[in-house]
Amino acid sequence: MMIKVLIDEETLKKRVKELAQEIEEYYKDKTDTIHAVCILKGSIHFFSDLVLNMRNLNVKYSFIHVSSYQGTSSTGRIRVKSWIDESIHDEYVLLVEDIVDTGLTLQHIVRYLKKYNPRDFKIVTLIEKTVHDHGVPLDFVGFRVGDKFLVGYGLDVDEKFRNLPYIGYVE
Ligand code: 5GP
Repeated sequence: MMIKVLIDEETLKKRVKELAQEIEEYYKDKTDTIHAVCILKGSIHFFSDLVLNMRNLNVKYSFIHVSSYQGTSSTGRIRVKSWIDESIHDEYVLLVEDIVDTGLTLQHIVRYLKKYNPRDFKIVTLIEKTVHDHGVPLDFVGFRVGDKFLVGYGLDVDEKFRNLPYIGYVE
């Protein structure tokens, strides 16, 4: 499988830092503590780099583990393998996703998380694919890309390529 670089390491790092600043700006006059929810496994590096760049906020961590893909196509079914273990009720929740394609994964997660009645609910995604009209309101977006299957920086094909330090695509 040939992988081509789409977003190099330096560009990634720079944009993630900018995103962290945009996000901090939003919370500035609202709260000093947020509850960031990482969607595993793909968001692991984005989540980590993002929160490490937030110097002015206390950040609580929660993790959700879901899977829907097999190979390079969505199965359309979402499997929730583990769920948040702390309450987000009345909190400033920031949901951190790696990539939004059809939006099905996010729609599913958002529907359930909102039942806890967080005080505020925002979504950040590193990548938004512009192929589908996914219908999920994204508050912060790192990069917009077309119809490519991406790997690296957490994204995989059958559990491979997650530890590439850049985002590439499969040719
Ligand atoms: P959606 O439910 O929006 O179609 O897809 C969301 C999930 O599918 C993402 O969290 C990610 O795990 C996976 N996914 C979507 N597009 C890609 C892609 O281009 N590459 C990889 N590796 N995973 C993707």
